Amino acid sequence: MLNKSKLWVLIILLITAITLAPVFFNRISETYNAVRQIDLLDEENNSLKRDLKKLKEENERLQSQLQKQKLFTLEAKTGLVRIEDVDDTIVMELRYATDNNFTGQKLYPASVPLLQRGTANKLKSANDRFKKDGYRIKVWDAYRPLDVQKKFWELNPNRLYVANPAYGSKHNRGSAVDITLVDKLGNELEMPTEFDHFSERAWRSYAGNTPEAQRNMEYLGKIMEESGFIANSTEWWHFDDNAWKSYPVLNIQLEDFILE
Ligand SMILES: [Zn+2]
Repeated sequence: MLNKSKLWVLIILLITAITLAPVFFNRISETYNAVRQIDLLDEENNSLKRDLKKLKEENERLQSQLQKQKLFTLEAKTGLVRIEDVDDTIVMELRYATDNNFTGQKLYPASVPLLQRGTANKLKSANDRFKKDGYRIKVWDAYRPLDVQKKFWELNPNRLYVANPAYGSKHNRGSAVDITLVDKLGNELEMPTEFDHFSERAWRSYAGNTPEAQRNMEYLGKIMEESGFIANSTEWWHFDDNAWKSYPVLNIQLEDFILE
């Protein structure tokens, strides 16, 4: 009797196992498939991420190509280049892009120091010389649109210091720079006066300078002249490219050279 009832239990268990087995195996297979699906989605996600990275890189490359093309076209049209693209070690402090200048007004919409390519190359070679002695050029002004020259003339019609816009300034040709020198820490060297100081104290022939200011002014002038510039007699900071006559007066706006 005992054996018979055990046998029944076994039979019932066996029938139950046979009935439930497909359900059990189905669950296992579903779980396996779900895990596999997640793996595939993961792989797809990673591959999309890689594609996105490539597209971003491609987009950046095209953007930079577009910007280069824009500058190339502007140079072809005007001859002007951004000084930083010729020598990025030159310090920039365009005073007319701030209100820290003799007019007390911001006259440039943005700090975009531009020069004729030939003038910029000469400035670079002067800067290379200064760097050997531990100094660098700081630019206070470079190319100036003719419209701004007209404003200068309204504010200070003194031909000793401001060129008559009827003829145009050498700044309007992108062939003149206003500069000083800084040391390795970026401190300006002692010079006869501040920038745009309109008195005979800014003249190269002024006799009352300190020996230090006199020496620095002469050192600046000597290297600039040897690099192809003409020193100005009434503004120690102003230098004309000696080839300035070959460049036209321009009125292209500085903001045209701003890159996105
Ligand atoms: Zn000047």
